[in-house]
Amino acid sequence: MKIIWRNVKYPRIDLRDGDVVVIAPPGTDIQMLLEKKKGWIDKNLRLVKELKRKAEEDIVKHGIRILDRYMDMRHNCKNPGIHGNTVYICKKRNDLLKRQLKNMLREDLNARVMKFSKILEIEPNRIYIREQKTKWGSCSSLGNLSFNLLLVFLPEHFRDYVVAHEITHLLYRNHGKKFKETLSRLNVRIPTKDDILFMWYYSTLCAQKLYIKK
Ligand SMILES: [Zn+2]
Repeated sequence: MKIIWRNVKYPRIDLRDGDVVVIAPPGTDIQMLLEKKKGWIDKNLRLVKELKRKAEEDIVKHGIRILDRYMDMRHNCKNPGIHGNTVYICKKRNDLLKRQLKNMLREDLNARVMKFSKILEIEPNRIYIREQKTKWGSCSSLGNLSFNLLLVFLPEHFRDYVVAHEITHLLYRNHGKKFKETLSRLNVRIPTKDDILFMWYYSTLCAQKLYIKK
């Protein structure tokens, strides 16, 4: 367990990496907080464990999914990267594969950005692929869009959803009524909270197996 003391209004418990992280204002009785939230914490730790197991099982059974194509994985430090239906991995030269994945994802997302921006008649400025720690995507006040490299491991309908969501933010910064109405014009499947959680663990595990994330 990790405790982060921060001047937040209310204490919060985060289980993102399967570890309990408490973010609380100084002076909080952590012991009492944990006791009060024990039911919620146990239930969610069980869920995380189950999702991680499912992700591992999927990869063992099908291989690593990269832009909707399942690939075999092999160690090869002479020529790391994707060649045909195999992804060759090397811990020491992981930057080569990372660059290749970034380029593949950029090309894929550019096409989605174009498709949706045409419908909404807006023009995003620049598109970045980043290794974001907690977000799938973000948009800046300058009209730039950033997307998480982990999306390369996720299904097409989810990439569509994240792109549509961020593009809609170029028009509406919050998640209010107008935002939702506009997003619905783009006809994307809205994932459930559990879907999103699973995708986080699945894509993180893929990245770890390819040595592009710790
Ligand atoms: Zn949003």
